[in-house]
Amino acid sequence: MRLRTIIAMVLVLCGFAAAAKAAPTVLHINQPLCHIVTPGGRATPPPADQFRCHGEPAGYQSGSLWLRADLSKAQPITDGLALLTHQTRFSRMVVAFDYADGTRRIAEVRQGAFGSHWRIGGQIAFEAPARDSPLTAMTIGFDRLASHSLLRMRLMTTPTAATQSSIIAAIVGGALTLLLLGALYNLALAHAVRRQFIAWHGAWAASVLIWGLLWSQLALLAVPQVAGALASQICTFLSTLAIGCATASAITSLERGLLPRGVRIGVLALGGSIALIGIPTAMIRSAAIDMIAPLLGLLILADLVAVAACIIWAWRQGSSEARDFALAWAPPMATLALTQLVDIDDQLFGGGSQVAVLIASALQTAWLSVAITRRLARLRAERDNARAAQRELDELARRDSLTGLLNRRGFIAAANDALAEAAAEGSAFGLLLIDVDHFKSINDRFGHDVGDAVLKRIAERLRQWEGDICTAGRLGGEEFILAMRGLGSRSLAEFADCVRTGISGHSYRDILPEGAGVTVSIGTADSRGGDNFHRLYKIADEALYEAKRTGRDRVVSGNVDAAKTITAMASRRA
Ligand code: GH3
Ligand code: MG
Ligand code: MG
Repeated sequence: MRLRTIIAMVLVLCGFAAAAKAAPTVLHINQPLCHIVTPGGRATPPPADQFRCHGEPAGYQSGSLWLRADLSKAQPITDGLALLTHQTRFSRMVVAFDYADGTRRIAEVRQGAFGSHWRIGGQIAFEAPARDSPLTAMTIGFDRLASHSLLRMRLMTTPTAATQSSIIAAIVGGALTLLLLGALYNLALAHAVRRQFIAWHGAWAASVLIWGLLWSQLALLAVPQVAGALASQICTFLSTLAIGCATASAITSLERGLLPRGVRIGVLALGGSIALIGIPTAMIRSAAIDMIAPLLGLLILADLVAVAACIIWAWRQGSSEARDFALAWAPPMATLALTQLVDIDDQLFGGGSQVAVLIASALQTAWLSVAITRRLARLRAERDNARAAQRELDELARRDSLTGLLNRRGFIAAANDALAEAAAEGSAFGLLLIDVDHFKSINDRFGHDVGDAVLKRIAERLRQWEGDICTAGRLGGEEFILAMRGLGSRSLAEFADCVRTGISGHSYRDILPEGAGVTVSIGTADSRGGDNFHRLYKIADEALYEAKRTGRDRVVSGNVDAAKTITAMASRRA
């Protein structure tokens, strides 16, 4: 099942990659273009003959960098052209298209004001409409560009650009929706079940969600003023924050004892430091970013390796959390590692590494949410089973193993409840103490096993009367007891006699030899509120003794009032 899901995800990613590669891009402008650096603020491109077509541009961070592509040698195109640039850090970008007839089309965007030039997928589009006269050159200018090595530009026909933009918009929209649901679900779940790692996972999903909204520029619908450097600065911080949250989520999900304390703290510190380094990295607008970016990349790789090692270590120790985590984190971690090692920025419909990370993160969030839910469902089932087993044990402890009736402890508890209910209702409550007559001789004559069978049979008979108002129990040996609610003294005595005849009139022919029978003596006691179980029991016991004394196989009703008098006399004497 899991393997199939992984294969399906890999196929989806490969599908995107293949489709993206197949899209006809007219011209990649990653090769060194002719360039010139001027002081900042220049409105139009410098003349063509001032551009240098060799060496690397330098010193442009505080001024303007102009890049020029000669299009006169490109094959003539009848459709309009679109230049798509990945959003990066600059304060102003100008694009001028020159036509053979001397016409120039010039447009610009500024930080915080991308106008209609932004496209979902983190791109800025400049279009050169098709005209009778062919395009001869394209000049692109940046004010205060952070790094020319981070520039990603593609030139393509306008219809291709439109198709790619729609595909990217659909992918980004789907991934962000999944992330939004994942973030809400995980944060709510973390609150409900109070598990730290779920909260970190919710925070990871939330930071990737906001990162995705800003990176894809979808956020510009609501806050157009963050367009440009501000959005990319926030994105830089959010991506490092997301890595910190992911590290915390992965490590805190593993049971405490699984990892050595030092390793646990070390990896958490590594994740935390990446999030912290994100803050200065986000603020830097100078050439220093070219130094910090690779360092941050190395730290991220080290963090991924450390987290992966911890998860694999815990997995090998038999942690099922670790296994769920390993499987869920594998796609985004592998994608992240891949984007650090391989340049796929021109792939995936121009969405590049960011769209790959976004898709992988959305799938991971969905996957892990399902895994966490299943884990909680399993825990819940285990808890329910444990409770059921405990209930069963409690029930067993209340039952007599031979007859299955309540034992002494169980019966006293049930009788006390029934007594309290009867007192609350103001109804009568009575006890029937039942003792088998000459049971010892049954054992002696026919054996202990036969004695047991007789006890079981009597229990079966008693169970027939059990119900809402009647509780049966075995006090021990050959002594049984019934608690009865709602019967007055007279009715109770009649009921007791019915029990007596029900036992003695029963046929024991399958257990005992022909002619042998079983009789019982019964002592009763009843009360209408106020009496406690032990007092009633004592009275019934005395009545039972009387039944035995006067010849057995009979019912004697305990005299509650007489017992009260005896107790009163006894206490006076004392
Ligand atoms: P009485 O009419 O006075 O009650 O006489 P009795 O023989 O029934 O009473 P007594 O107390 O002398 O003997 C009770 C016997 O019950 C003694 C004991 O061996 C037997 N007994 C107690 N528990 C069990 C049991 O679980 N199984 C069997 N088969 N016998 C038991
Ligand atoms: Mg007996
Ligand atoms: Mg007895």
